Amino acid sequence: MHVVVIGAGIVGVCTAYALRQQGFQVTVVERNPGAAQGASFANAGVLAPAYASPWAQPGMPTRVLQYLFSRHAPLVLRPTLRPATLGWLARWLGECRAKRYVQNKERMYRLAVYSRIVLHEVRDRHVIDFEQGSGYLQLFRSQREFERAAPARAWLSEAGVPFRELTPAQARELEPALVQGAPLAAAVHLPDDETGNCAYFARRLRDVLARDGVEFRFDTTALRLVPGAQGIERLDTDDGPLAADAYVVAAGVESAALLRTAGIRVPLIPVLGYSLTAQIARHEYAPFMSFMDETYKVAVTRMGNRLRVAGTAEIGPRRPRLRESALRTLRKVASDWFPSAASFVNARAWVGARPMLPDGPPLLGATPIPNLYLNVGHGGSGWLLACGSARAVADVVAGRKPEIELAGLTLDRYARGAKA
Ligand SMILES: Cc1cc2nc3c(=O)[nH]c(=O)nc-3n(C[C@H](O)[C@H](O)[C@H](O)COP(=O)(O)OP(=O)(O)OC[C@H]3O[C@@H](n4cnc5c(N)ncnc54)[C@H](O)[C@@H]3O)c2cc1C
Repeated sequence: MHVVVIGAGIVGVCTAYALRQQGFQVTVVERNPGAAQGASFANAGVLAPAYASPWAQPGMPTRVLQYLFSRHAPLVLRPTLRPATLGWLARWLGECRAKRYVQNKERMYRLAVYSRIVLHEVRDRHVIDFEQGSGYLQLFRSQREFERAAPARAWLSEAGVPFRELTPAQARELEPALVQGAPLAAAVHLPDDETGNCAYFARRLRDVLARDGVEFRFDTTALRLVPGAQGIERLDTDDGPLAADAYVVAAGVESAALLRTAGIRVPLIPVLGYSLTAQIARHEYAPFMSFMDETYKVAVTRMGNRLRVAGTAEIGPRRPRLRESALRTLRKVASDWFPSAASFVNARAWVGARPMLPDGPPLLGATPIPNLYLNVGHGGSGWLLACGSARAVADVVAGRKPEIELAGLTLDRYARGAKA
């Protein structure tokens, strides 16, 4: 059986891998000249299942309004009259209710835990080095913020996730590079969380796949899915038609447009995010542990000899474009904590578009069209969720029962009359 995967981001590459593991002939169609050049290119690299949370959560609408007046807002809402964005925002508001949040969080966590197990399996089988780091710190600049995050810690305790609350002195003992003058009120250490370079992993896996006979058609844009009597008949590309037995859409933010050509609608919008990657200049001042500045929701991740500073969510613009004010926030956070570690002014800046659904969990598996499958909408957790999502989707394509329960992770939750 021949399966076409559309998109060679982290989700598409992992999907191709999982399908190949099932023995399928696999072709990957990617409009860029290589793998992981979209949202998967320079993300924060955090692999923290407990923090795979929906952005739609109680209290968030109020915070978004407050951010409108903040200079370094973690979430920016740009006015837009585009119906898709307005419709998305309306649905997002509905998902901020406590009951919905708990349900969406459970769905994401279930997938995240599974995904990390699969990631470790793949890493160990192929001895993939992707600049892994272990342990994660949350830094709180004020006691008020630390207290506001108490429900999240209660959830960690309930879920059995190991963590330790730290005083500023204990945090600095654990990570001596944290500069003394920075306003640290409290910290939380999560020893089991991990980090790693998503693009490195995707490219190594692509090499494994290329050696195993998977065909990558780079510089090829998928134009439309052409339905026939038995399902999708072919994929039209700018390099001619491509026919296969099954098709998996893993095209990140472009998935919605592509699926529309087959008559399938998904409420997916791009939410922009930014990163800076700086070469470490003074190792004695650079952190070994990665962390999240909870005030600005900016992650600082150690990747080999570089520091990656990533954050900001911007709803509204359709096309990624570097925005100076977002980069300023990233520079501020990095310089507040590690002023002498690297030159953040000369760091490589990047903007990417998270493929975001209003409720949070991605859409995996079957569609109403028998040979068309989804692996889309991983939002701000696509690196973490990719390996597990891919294996579950490959199981569905193969007609096998996935190793995890897919309830709430499929297109059924958007079906008319569905209880969600
Ligand atoms: C600033 C930032 C920080 C982040 N931090 C984290 C993090 O710490 N941890 C985490 O888990 N996640 C994080 N994410 C989210 C994560 O990066 C994304 O969820 C993930 O990369 C999505 O992967 P994808 O393969 O679905 O999309 P992409 O990587 O965008 O891949 C989609 C691919 O499809 C291709 N494509 C699209 N349309 C077509 C077409 N018509 N024909 C052919 N090819 C097509 C694109 O060129 C692209 O290569 C972050 C994102 C951002 C922006």
